[in-house]
Amino acid sequence: MSADPVPGLLSRATELLEEQFAALPAFDFAADPAAMALVLEGVARRLGDNYPYFHPLYAGQMLKPPHPLARAAYALAMTINPNNHARDGGRASSEMEIEAVREIAAIFGWTDYLGHLTSSGTLANLEALWVAGQLAPGKRIVGSEQAHYTHQRISAVLKLEYAPIAADRRGRMSLPALEDELRKGDVGTVVATLGTTAIGAVDPLDEILALRARFGFRVHVDAAYGGYFRLIPEALDAPARRAFAFVDQADSIVIDPHKHGLQPYGCGCVLFRDPSVGRFYKHDSPYTYFTSKQLHLGEISLECSRAGASAVALWATQQLLPLTPGGEFAHGLARGRAAALELDRRLREDNSGRFQALAGGGPELDIVVWKINAETTQQASSLAQRIFTACALRDLHLALVELPLRWFRPTEVSEPPSGAGTITCLRSVLMKPEHEAWLDAIWERLTAACAEVVGEEEKCL
Ligand SMILES: *Cc1c(COP(=O)(O)O)cnc(C)c1O
Repeated sequence: MSADPVPGLLSRATELLEEQFAALPAFDFAADPAAMALVLEGVARRLGDNYPYFHPLYAGQMLKPPHPLARAAYALAMTINPNNHARDGGRASSEMEIEAVREIAAIFGWTDYLGHLTSSGTLANLEALWVAGQLAPGKRIVGSEQAHYTHQRISAVLKLEYAPIAADRRGRMSLPALEDELRKGDVGTVVATLGTTAIGAVDPLDEILALRARFGFRVHVDAAYGGYFRLIPEALDAPARRAFAFVDQADSIVIDPHKHGLQPYGCGCVLFRDPSVGRFYKHDSPYTYFTSKQLHLGEISLECSRAGASAVALWATQQLLPLTPGGEFAHGLARGRAAALELDRRLREDNSGRFQALAGGGPELDIVVWKINAETTQQASSLAQRIFTACALRDLHLALVELPLRWFRPTEVSEPPSGAGTITCLRSVLMKPEHEAWLDAIWERLTAACAEVVGEEEKCL
């Protein structure tokens, strides 16, 4: 957790950077060290009010600590504080962004594309749907009911009509339901989610693309969370492997380096297969582009100011851990995936009869969800919440998620025969490579918390 994980690493690099400006006349920077130290102590105390996201026992939401090198490179860049809107604001970091984005595009086999970093996956998706709307004005956007909630909101902002498509029992977009929508003839864009936020379900992109050949529409792949899994096809089951193999045929792709790419927040990425969509961004601000004839990132981006430090951190991380199949970065992804498969296996084989994994099959990426068995759906939901709290008291931090009842085997007597309705479940995103080695510790705490909560429950009866 240390701010300087390799002692002296950041200070040596800072000296090297300062040397390059040493010819400038010195100036005084007014600062009161004692006052600053006092405030920073206060900040440290305030920041203690957080879950320990950096620790392997934090296995709840989609939070992965940035690589120590990313933090150091980000901090180093802060001494310059470049702005990647234009080269005037960040020459070196603009170049680093272009190089880092090229390496991300290469994951998908793209060499001739238009792409840049954004502040977030939401902003990246906004750009992709904005371009989609420019190309097919008045046509609808559709995405699975498990797609990220921001697609609907983004569509509303863009004044494009949006319709959700039913998901099947594995949380993947239902193809018959999609085809029904497509027959209406007014769908301009289909959002395929490769790795849903709730359970990591992978929409059948290969089959969606086959429908594109028949019906004609734009395909946007939202791989904000799942995109990097394209590096480890051997670790995926056949349907997910097929879907990821086809991403190169999408019209646009979003991937979040601040999700699985070991980056501090403020780092999303959007890619377009056809570089000519850059024409939609055209503007003629009179004051930003005087110093260079080269492309400015602000000319192909909806955002204006953007942290150059994000690009610097990403570039540095990818120098250390190149985005190559079989490399160390890919291996780290595979370890989280292995942890998820192992937790799912234990849940399925556990003989206490308390846990129930998804009926349709195990995790497609590295997110595991399960329900607690009980007499009624309400009891099962309340037990999940109590186990969540009991785990936290044992320093194991999981998450809760509301899932459709029909995704599970019917067990509760109160369940409606239609399977309609939802149930509160436990959820664990095992996205840190360390999770694999910590699985015994996680399992031990989970089963102890569950035994305690269920024991209390039985005493009350
Ligand atoms: C996280 C996520 C988003 C939103 O990205 P932010 O970076 O949080 O804005 C969009 N889509 C999917 C599938 C996600 O997992």
